[in-house]
Amino acid sequence: MDLSACVDRLRSGAAHEFPADASSVAFARHMDSQDKLRHLRDEFVLPSKASLKKRALDGTMPEQAAVVNGVNGDKAEPTSDGDDASSQQSLYFVGNSLGAQPKAVREYINAHLETWASIGVNGHFTDMANSPLTQWQDLAEDCAKRSADIVGSAPHEIVIMNTLTVNLHLMMASFYRPTAERHKIILEWKPFPSDHYAVESQVLWHGLDPRKSMVKIEPDGGGALITTDKILRTIDEHADETALLLLPGIQYYSGQLFDMPRITAHAKARGIVVGWDLAHAAGNVELRLHDWDVDFACWCTYKYINAGPGAIAGAFVHEKHGRVEWAAGADRPTYRPRLMGWYGGDKSVRFDMDNRFVPTPGAAGYQASNPSAVDLASLSGALSVFGKTSMRDLRSKALVLTAYAEHLLNQMLAETAGDGQPPLFTIITPADPLQRGTQLSVLLRAGLLDRVARALEDNGVLCDKRKPDVIRVAPVPLYTRFEDVWRFMQVLRGALGL
Ligand SMILES: *Cc1c(COP(=O)(O)O)cnc(C)c1O
Repeated sequence: MDLSACVDRLRSGAAHEFPADASSVAFARHMDSQDKLRHLRDEFVLPSKASLKKRALDGTMPEQAAVVNGVNGDKAEPTSDGDDASSQQSLYFVGNSLGAQPKAVREYINAHLETWASIGVNGHFTDMANSPLTQWQDLAEDCAKRSADIVGSAPHEIVIMNTLTVNLHLMMASFYRPTAERHKIILEWKPFPSDHYAVESQVLWHGLDPRKSMVKIEPDGGGALITTDKILRTIDEHADETALLLLPGIQYYSGQLFDMPRITAHAKARGIVVGWDLAHAAGNVELRLHDWDVDFACWCTYKYINAGPGAIAGAFVHEKHGRVEWAAGADRPTYRPRLMGWYGGDKSVRFDMDNRFVPTPGAAGYQASNPSAVDLASLSGALSVFGKTSMRDLRSKALVLTAYAEHLLNQMLAETAGDGQPPLFTIITPADPLQRGTQLSVLLRAGLLDRVARALEDNGVLCDKRKPDVIRVAPVPLYTRFEDVWRFMQVLRGALGL
């Protein structure tokens, strides 16, 4: 099967038929051999089955580099699927929750530690030769530059600061300006709880009633999916009273990818401010925030961007909201109101230590505090991996990897159809490749989750479980092989008695 022809079909929104031999490991390896991005796996340290059992540090990192080169790099083709090197590897399918560790993160953090130890406070304003990092003062801006292609914006429309929920609050402080007429926030019925709390508390903070000012879009039928139609209708219904629309680019539970350009245009045409939570979309799907005319967006960097647990987050502010304008003769500029702090102040006057705030033009003017350099070093290392590829190529591979996972899942259903039992599981993520990212959410038949979770753990598979009955499977294209998808499904088959 030709991988690039498959990409083309999936990109056009067409279904893809896998050949009859697609359930063999040989097929999976054949796909891997055509994968132009397979070398990127070598940029990561993935847990091994042995390292997953660690309960005490011993100064070692999981063994794998040589093994991965062998399997990945056209050299030693394993002949059996039993006792080869691959079987010692864990299967990392949880990059939608915490991305795997890029090797560059260790290198960049070490560079930071050497700088700090060697020159102390001067690291703020000194560019060190041989360092992958800029001086600390410029690190956030450097990370913004490296993030621009990931979200489809100009570098000055991105600010790297704080963490996701905090940034949602800072953005709403500037973009949610309720009036007696327009006071509603439209969100979805089951957002990630933190987003719900953030919206609810903003409404309360303005002295408003969440029952009147929060509009929650519910799916039309049963199930977890919300159609674009339903979203547009809800916008129309509340248009005159709505101040803000805040939705996830990809819904964390169902894996549904929303039609961001269409929804944004529809809401903006009705005078509504539009913000997107891109926690599950950034680093996963192709985004064009600037061209879509999004007002603001926020994302974390520890899921598909791999910067490490709780790492510093990103936010987008459209350039038209970041302007700093001086009227003739004025001693203060005009700019969009926000919650201010000294790091949002323009570098030319930041250290003047007077009390006249002059924001940095662009998104950077939304910073409040001096950002953590160790955090930025970690993010910078993680972003360096994205610099070796493009979101287009990552998305292309992801479309096929996910379709392959879906194909193997559907095969299990086909094998057990007509056995008089309810289906073993339902895939709740949309079957349309253009309405999902890499993640497939699999709703298991009631009562199966514990058994499946145990089998996954026993076989060195990392995968997210959501009680009561869902596993969320994310074959991340940066470090997942087709063979890994095949192996994952073998473990799942075993757990389901197939
Ligand atoms: C992961 C995630 C969060 C987490 O928020 P933090 O502030 O980073 O802890 C919030 N919202 C969504 C939609 C998420 O997916």
